[in-house]
Amino acid sequence: MVEYDVIIIGAGSIGVPTALATSMEGLKTLVIDSFPSVAQGDNKHAIGGIRATHSLKSKVWLCQRSIEIFSTWKKTHGDDIWWIQGGYTFLAHSEQDVQMLKNTVNKQRDFGLNIRYINVEKIKQLVPGINELGLLGGTHSPEDGNASPLLAMHSIYRKSKEYGASYNFNETVVNFSIEKNKITGVKTTRGKYTSRFVINAAGANAKKIGSLGGFSVPVEPDSHEAGITEPVKNFFSTMVVDIKPEIDSIYGNSKNYYFYQNKEGKILFCLTPDPRIKGTDRQETSLFLPQVSKRMVSILPRLRNIKIRRTWRGLYPMTPDGNPIIGKVNDYEGYINAVGMCGQGFMLGPGVGELLSRTITEKLTQKDYEILNELSQERDFGKEEELK
Ligand SMILES: Cc1cc2nc3c(=O)[nH]c(=O)nc-3n(C[C@H](O)[C@H](O)[C@H](O)COP(=O)(O)OP(=O)(O)OC[C@H]3O[C@@H](n4cnc5c(N)ncnc54)[C@H](O)[C@@H]3O)c2cc1C
Repeated sequence: MVEYDVIIIGAGSIGVPTALATSMEGLKTLVIDSFPSVAQGDNKHAIGGIRATHSLKSKVWLCQRSIEIFSTWKKTHGDDIWWIQGGYTFLAHSEQDVQMLKNTVNKQRDFGLNIRYINVEKIKQLVPGINELGLLGGTHSPEDGNASPLLAMHSIYRKSKEYGASYNFNETVVNFSIEKNKITGVKTTRGKYTSRFVINAAGANAKKIGSLGGFSVPVEPDSHEAGITEPVKNFFSTMVVDIKPEIDSIYGNSKNYYFYQNKEGKILFCLTPDPRIKGTDRQETSLFLPQVSKRMVSILPRLRNIKIRRTWRGLYPMTPDGNPIIGKVNDYEGYINAVGMCGQGFMLGPGVGELLSRTITEKLTQKDYEILNELSQERDFGKEEELK
């Protein structure tokens, strides 16, 4: 029987870049996924936003590394993943949000982020036609960007195979092989595989995977909808994040609304329902379109006649504090969590993949220890990040 160095459960936003990082390090890597091909879980539901603009140090650092990888991907590996470095623009419509954004900017600059508070005039240059009514200012982080989750994951997948990673599709992990307190491999619908390490990168199914080995993995998915318009001439390149909550007694309240224009000129958009819609429902609703189009036209009136091509619904694998859980667990050898990516798995993927690889090869840096400490399962889950 082949002995792997690492088995990764899940060929999604996290599993695939992790397989690239481990195979580049010469680790014998197997990725197992229930779907017939790569990135068919929630990776393909992501709209493609990539930012290091977080308020938690570990996520800032992980995503800064992801941005280095995404932004140089075409030059390094030849494939166009539709990377656009248009930045992120958060909008403030209340004095409270102005203060919150200004405070966050100071903290983010301390973490090494290129971000600043900007006035309405600057926002108008970044987003021509934006509705100025009630707009007080915002932040802009020019190094953030966007890319196609499917193009990116397919390209990373091909590259990882060139480095020797193996993928078994149409195969479901149903149990772990455990000897005393050590995970020695997995059992699947097709057979048994042994390995030194098993990484749980099962996205919305992470809790169930954890429970197979008796690990408590506090990941509860919730449903989010998104959509895409017809293409129009490119007129802005930043991701716009409207953090003003929307009260809508007919179609439902919502928190953040965010959108950008991709390389083909199509506008991709998403919003955060309030309250959260917990569960695993991936069926799109008829409420989303009227709910979101009201916000779209209110922020950017020139979109009033644009046609929406398609909407879809996917899951955020949520943790109690909205931050991922990454790293080994106490009491069991050989098991590693890479779970609870919430609404940020695509942007975290490449940075997380390299961190996991260094965890296995024991090449962790001082910065890595700080990241792992902040994202450890042993942390206090009571504190939420300011800028989720
Ligand atoms: C509408 C929407 C918009 C989003 N926009 C963004 C965005 O702009 N930027 C961003 O960074 N993130 C975004 N996200 C979040 C992002 O999609 C997720 O955080 C990310 O896909 C999670 O990555 P993952 O690898 O953990 O899970 P997935 O990509 O879902 O991969 C998990 C894989 O594990 C497999 N699996 C599960 N159980 C088993 C098993 N027992 N055996 C074998 N295989 C198994 C699944 O089949 C799946 O393929 C968005 C999500 C949604 C829903």
